Amino acid sequence: MNSSSNSFLRRRVTVLGSTGSIGVNTLDVIRAHPDRFEVVALTAGRQVERLAQQCLEFKPRIAVVADAAGAAQLKQLLAEKSGQLTILHGPEALLTAVLESDCDTVMAAIVGAAGLAPTLAAAQAGKRILLANKEALVMSGDLFMSAVKAGGAELLPIDSEHNAIFQCLPDRFGSTSNGNTRDHFGVEELWLTASGGPFREKSLDALKTITPDEACAHPNWVMGRKISVDSATMMNKGLEVIEAHWLFGLPLSQIRVLIHPQSVVHSMVRYRDGSVIAQLGQPDMRTPIAYGLAWPDRIDAGVPPLNLAQMANLHFSEPDFERFPCLALAFEAAKVGGTAPAILNAANEVAVAAFLDQRLPYLQIASVVRETLSAIQSVPASSIEIVLGADTQARQVAAQLVSTLARK
Ligand code: NAD
Ligand code: MG
Repeated sequence: MNSSSNSFLRRRVTVLGSTGSIGVNTLDVIRAHPDRFEVVALTAGRQVERLAQQCLEFKPRIAVVADAAGAAQLKQLLAEKSGQLTILHGPEALLTAVLESDCDTVMAAIVGAAGLAPTLAAAQAGKRILLANKEALVMSGDLFMSAVKAGGAELLPIDSEHNAIFQCLPDRFGSTSNGNTRDHFGVEELWLTASGGPFREKSLDALKTITPDEACAHPNWVMGRKISVDSATMMNKGLEVIEAHWLFGLPLSQIRVLIHPQSVVHSMVRYRDGSVIAQLGQPDMRTPIAYGLAWPDRIDAGVPPLNLAQMANLHFSEPDFERFPCLALAFEAAKVGGTAPAILNAANEVAVAAFLDQRLPYLQIASVVRETLSAIQSVPASSIEIVLGADTQARQVAAQLVSTLARK
């Protein structure tokens, strides 16, 4: 449908993970632009009350929750107001939200491996994918990027670093049309910035007793609990290195991590001629979300303007791989390739969940990941079944390690 006074397409959006931090920010941007966006499906895990409110406000055609009890609760909360809404539950229903909602745009904002299947389905179906769920790309980068290409999907990164790099690269980077090869663009390195999380300057000894709430208190960003812990361990940056490798098709040797505690420079590209192009902004996810939703247009994201004159200095330094062993483990898994990144990701999800549940000390997160990686042989990630098999196996091994470590 074309808007009567404007030339842009009114986008029909499915939000996977609408009750999470990215999901709520996405709906915040959509709310401000009803002429541009319509919500056709919303999905959530267990936050049914929040989903009910979102359904009342955005009136999607499909709403999905994790299980039957959640679906019954949603039905009850909406009562006669459910109107044309179809309420579904379970992992298969996430595919329905992508494939049968008549959406053209999918915000992939489910956390963890649970987001892989619907995001892959969106790729195969040729949707515009706004990719926040980095774990999908980490697990199955090669297969995922092939599905994007085969399905004719449009992949726009939402992770702030990758969104920044996307903005700093030339329009046709990655395309060999116009007689250009990648080499013509002169990209030497991608510099992913990292805040270093809340424990950048804590003594290694003090890290032994870190609690979940301390780990989730990120200095600059408000995020879901899993990614907040990943930011504290810097596993998040490790996952992002793998994400950048697949998204931009560059070898690991051309991807670097820079600590930048202020989170104002969201990432940079260094070019052959000496230029470095950076994207700056407030640490507010509504900027990359608005960019992805409206691309190639730019719309108001509700984000206050950046005032550099009022800022303290901007600092940059090299990461400390001893303080952040998870970052080193991610680089190693990326170099090994095959199913190793899927194993890394699964072990990390299990270890972080155990830490958040107070079943595993903070410093043991890295041990669980390391030992799971060495217990399982990486094989070529040649099919989704193989990737999911590695994921399942790694979860079993990691869970075993957690219970052994918890007994110590
Ligand atoms: P969150 O925990 O706040 O939200 C996760 C969403 O996924 C919720 O709606 C939850 O109900 C849903 N969900 C969780 N498990 C599910 C399951 N098994 N089945 C179906 N739905 C399920 O997480 P978040 O911070 O919004 O992050 C979402 C994704 O975006 C993650 O992959 C994260 O790495 C990425 N990301 C987040 C940020 C950020 O600022 N929050 C920044 C960059 C990337
Ligand atoms: Mg990020």
